[in-house]
Amino acid sequence: MKAKKFAELVAQGAVQGKRVFIRADLNVPLAENGSVADDTRIRASLPAIRMALEGGAAAVLVTSHLGRPKEGEPQAKDSLAPVAARMAELLGRPVRLVTDWVDGQFTTAPGEVVLLENCRLNVGEKKNNPELAQRIAKLADIFVHDAFGTAHRAEATTYGVFEYAPVACAGPLLVQEVEAIEKVVANPPRPLIAIVAGSKVSTKLTVLQNLAEKVDTLIVGGGILNTFLMAAGKPVGKSLVEPDLVGEAKAVQEKMAARGADVPLPEDVVVASEFRADAPATVKATEAVAADEMILDVGPQFAERIAQTIEACTGAVVWNGPLGVFEFDAFAKGTERLARAIAACPGFTLAGGGDTIAAIEKFGTADQVDYISTGGGAFLEMLEGKVLPAIEILAKRAED
Ligand code: ADP
Ligand code: MG
Repeated sequence: MKAKKFAELVAQGAVQGKRVFIRADLNVPLAENGSVADDTRIRASLPAIRMALEGGAAAVLVTSHLGRPKEGEPQAKDSLAPVAARMAELLGRPVRLVTDWVDGQFTTAPGEVVLLENCRLNVGEKKNNPELAQRIAKLADIFVHDAFGTAHRAEATTYGVFEYAPVACAGPLLVQEVEAIEKVVANPPRPLIAIVAGSKVSTKLTVLQNLAEKVDTLIVGGGILNTFLMAAGKPVGKSLVEPDLVGEAKAVQEKMAARGADVPLPEDVVVASEFRADAPATVKATEAVAADEMILDVGPQFAERIAQTIEACTGAVVWNGPLGVFEFDAFAKGTERLARAIAACPGFTLAGGGDTIAAIEKFGTADQVDYISTGGGAFLEMLEGKVLPAIEILAKRAED
């Protein structure tokens, strides 16, 4: 990755006595009671903060977005307060939360870590307003981009501030994520298998089209599979499906076929007549899905067939999206078989996406995946071969 690296600045002693601003991705799920439900992203942001402290930073200012608040209209549910509390526990030192921070009307004690309240509350954040970015760029000496999960968006704290920052560099999480994914994208070991599943084709259409030009096998699942089944003239009953995108699904199949590759379709599926955790699950031949049924998982024969392909793959496997409604145990078996096959795969394995990570956690195979990305959208956009805005601006600033 072409960027100034924060780790190198620390090693050179360039951080000593400097104010450091870190754009992290602390957008974590919150529980009903408002506490942090999963702290993976907070843990993943600690190396950059510790690095700043060890480098002798005068103060460490960390910010992130949380959820999708309305700019300029702070509400209690949008506050990073629970994140500050969890971060303080993990760091073993106080983390003070600062609100209304854009103009720097706050003081910091030497070596203090402060969390700057939800940056998406600032008017102009989402639209990357240049005046907002310029004001924020005055808050510190060194600006660290460590928010891989938001690296595919050009907002004031993920892009604009890095244009105007005195020093703009990449944090350790960003570097690690980008380098791991670049390795597969730039020069993928072969065969390369991609699994793109989950709820909708519409959200993953461009990634499907781009992957169809690159991968040896493309496996689809979830609502995406239903659209491919409809495109192949199979009955899908009342499954989650996007009829408008049947043409796109056909185009992906044709692109793969033209390269001598394919998108395997299941011989069997698991159906139910209602979308409920306790709905009776029936395994059926794909051809036999009735009008009042919905496909909620791939069938055991298909799961076994793709699992064996993956277990024999000495190249690389990239995975985004559960194969079925894995949250309901009766419809989780296809995703579980896939997760176990990826765990057993001799090749390089890479997975990313919010629900995909939840599935991996559910089946306890996280240790056996070579690389798990904290990013969902950013992970997919890198797989597509897009240059993320964060990477583009940091590369540009590396020339200063
Ligand atoms: P990720 O967050 O990993 O990118 P997605 O958000 O695209 O994944 O998709 C995950 C969701 O898709 C899960 O909540 C899962 O229940 C749902 N899903 C998977 N298969 C089906 C299906 N056949 N019908 C309806 N929903 C499905
Ligand atoms: Mg999701």
